[in-house]
Amino acid sequence: MKVAIMGAGISGLSCAIALERNGIEPTIFEKRSRVGDRFINAEAMFDILNRPIKDCLGYIREKFNIDLQPISDVDKLIVHSKNEVSSIQGKIGYTNLRGRHENSFERQLEKQLKSKIIFNSSYEYETLCKEFDFVVLATGDGEYSSNLGNYRCDLTCTIVGATVVGDFIKSNPHVWFNYDIIPKGYGWLIPFSEKEANLVIAYPDYPNNIKLDRDKMWSRFYELASSDLNQSLKIRDSFQITRYMMGICLRPKIDNTYFIGNCFGTISPGLGFGQFASILTGVYCAYDILGIEKYEKLVKPLFKNYNNSLVLRRYLENLTDDKLDAIVKNLDNKLIDNLIDRLCDNNTSLDILKYLTPIMKLANKINSN
Ligand SMILES: Cc1cc2nc3c(=O)[nH]c(=O)nc-3n(C[C@H](O)[C@H](O)[C@H](O)COP(=O)(O)OP(=O)(O)OC[C@H]3O[C@@H](n4cnc5c(N)ncnc54)[C@H](O)[C@@H]3O)c2cc1C
Repeated sequence: MKVAIMGAGISGLSCAIALERNGIEPTIFEKRSRVGDRFINAEAMFDILNRPIKDCLGYIREKFNIDLQPISDVDKLIVHSKNEVSSIQGKIGYTNLRGRHENSFERQLEKQLKSKIIFNSSYEYETLCKEFDFVVLATGDGEYSSNLGNYRCDLTCTIVGATVVGDFIKSNPHVWFNYDIIPKGYGWLIPFSEKEANLVIAYPDYPNNIKLDRDKMWSRFYELASSDLNQSLKIRDSFQITRYMMGICLRPKIDNTYFIGNCFGTISPGLGFGQFASILTGVYCAYDILGIEKYEKLVKPLFKNYNNSLVLRRYLENLTDDKLDAIVKNLDNKLIDNLIDRLCDNNTSLDILKYLTPIMKLANKINSN
């Protein structure tokens, strides 16, 4: 059986590992000259967003025998709004590296793989379709899916970020919801180490946002983060991504073509998490090719998660800075603090997003009338 995987990112490599372990050696086509050949950034995985799973990396290890080492556990998430700051504590999840770093998730996956990767590939999907029994699209965005008429794009985002040097607590990322500076978007800081971190803003490309001066927005956010962290952060290695697509495929598989990772629509529009679901789609696609279980059935919960996350995005977008302040302030309220601690606790498999979705949906409806 001949399987082509287009894209050696986290979904494509996870698919390749699962195939290989079951006796199929795929051919992997990667357009870059090596795995992860792009800017280095830190990303996060929060267990609470993947319920009923309680420990994402433990799950991947136990269920799929794929071992991924994080930078750190996250035991405290510091949440800033315009006038408030609060924190969520507990076993929240993990942070990890991406891109060119030798310990990036894609590099760790590559080390667990034997199959050949064809680098600097300029193969087109149409060619691969003719030469292979199955083609797995894992190119990291919705473009291929969209060109094949198989994608609903809900929004695109601009992402501006940099590596910053300062003093950080590795297990304590920060997130900012401040619409005065980042309208309808957010900013975050994820430490790589005690000395380096990733500082990023992401905002939707709506007409009012497109008019704004991107550099000015970034400078204002950088000043805010420096002031909130009470240090002068030194900027190194900046990056920008324009028109980053958030959407979902209409069908996860068409004939012998599979859509996985961001080609499927794994990035959640609410908070921008996509890594865990990308790995799942990779492995699930392999299971279908191997005849173990149907891809369409396995990814059903991912469609639901995506749509719930879109409700969350619309809900967040409708809030004002005053409302965000009130929410952030309440995170320190003893009762709510207790509840959140219990929800983050790995003894519960309660899916908070699922339960909050109908309430947010109603709020969105009221807002749109
Ligand atoms: C700045 C940023 C921060 C993020 N932060 C988080 C976070 O904190 N937590 C989280 O869970 N998610 C986060 N995400 C989302 C997450 O990174 C993605 O959902 C995930 O990487 C998607 O995996 P993938 O396999 O689809 O794509 P990737 O891992 O990006 O891999 C795609 C691969 O395909 C290759 N490729 C592209 N075109 C072709 C072609 N024509 N032929 C061959 N190869 C090709 C690329 O070079 C690349 O190697 C973030 C994304 C960004 C951009």
